[in-house]
Amino acid sequence: MRIVVTGGAGFLGAHLCERLLDRGDTVICVDNFLTGSPRNVSHLLGRPPFRLVECDITGFVHVAGDVDMVLHFASAASPFDYLRYPIETLKVGSIGTLHALGLAKEKEARFVLASTSEVYGDPMEHPQRETYWGNVNPVGPRSVYDEAKRFAESLTTAYRTAHGTDTAIARIFNTYGPRMRPYDGRAVPTFIRQALNGEPLTVTGDGTQTRSICYVDDTIDAILALADSDYAGPVNIGNPTEMSILHLAETIRDLTGSTSPIHYITRPEDDPAIRCPDITLAGKHLGWHPRIDHLDGLRRTIDWFDAYLHGGRARATS
Ligand code: NAD
Ligand code: UDP
Repeated sequence: MRIVVTGGAGFLGAHLCERLLDRGDTVICVDNFLTGSPRNVSHLLGRPPFRLVECDITGFVHVAGDVDMVLHFASAASPFDYLRYPIETLKVGSIGTLHALGLAKEKEARFVLASTSEVYGDPMEHPQRETYWGNVNPVGPRSVYDEAKRFAESLTTAYRTAHGTDTAIARIFNTYGPRMRPYDGRAVPTFIRQALNGEPLTVTGDGTQTRSICYVDDTIDAILALADSDYAGPVNIGNPTEMSILHLAETIRDLTGSTSPIHYITRPEDDPAIRCPDITLAGKHLGWHPRIDHLDGLRRTIDWFDAYLHGGRARATS
């Protein structure tokens, strides 16, 4: 298959491009490097079925030849990034999604939207099922991301009903793993970097807010299963093992062997208090369940960060 991956030079996009190439697909990776980097896919550049195109999906987009799938992953994703790039985030979620859907329509390709658990906002239902409409502050700081994705879901649904475009919506929950940026501000890379550097681990609030973290290989398995199916979704993709952020910080500290203290810092406005996916639909329609538990996944991620930041020395000496 010939597959366009928007945001393909980002964290999830780069893993996706690699897996698609491994199974024999041709991949056109489209990225403007706002929060991603060509470095993330540099190891793929020598492989002939891979093409990296520097392009802002909110501008003019043209892809020559047939396309079988458009996997739309372009968008800042960490709160630190989307608060730095509020307008860019709204534009890529709206205009960028319009262009990615237009490409899928023109090429009669299947379209998969990388949506997010953030469409549920600060949820009043727990765990979150796909039928839950969410609790989002439309003028709060996180709205630039949440509302952009909610609009993207609505647009995707309209292309399906009005144009008959073959679409799918993946609601991805917090995913972590190798190739996250050490300074992207998300909890897992931040705690790992701080622990490996012997710095205090910065937990927001009292750390009782929860998240459910999914290892990247599991998330990519689910995305591929959804892409290959004819299921429209929306479907939750995440690991339902829920934990408090303080527990996450302490677990990472233990796994690195670090003695860093925990420092409590101000919790961001509208930071969701709880988050956990109900993955019944993913099991039923995609035959998918996460396989990698958080201890295994965190160990793999710590090893990667240690090699990336310190050539593997920090853990050996900590
Ligand atoms: P990321 O920031 O690492 O990757 C996003 C990529 O999109 C980057 O390479 C960036 O340069 C690119 N991009 C941004 N604006 C663009 C534009 N206008 N044109 C072309 N490229 C553009 O983030 P990620 O964690 O890999 O997330 C990828 C997608 O998955 C996002 O759509 C995000 O909303 C979604 N998602 C991720 C998670 C997660 O936990 N990682 C959870 C839910 C949803
Ligand atoms: N968080 C934290 N310390 C950090 C970064 C994040 O305690 O250095 C908290 C953050 O306030 C939130 C949780 O960890 O409660 C998850 O944050 P992340 O940015 O990883 O994901 P999201 O909030 O988008 O789910």
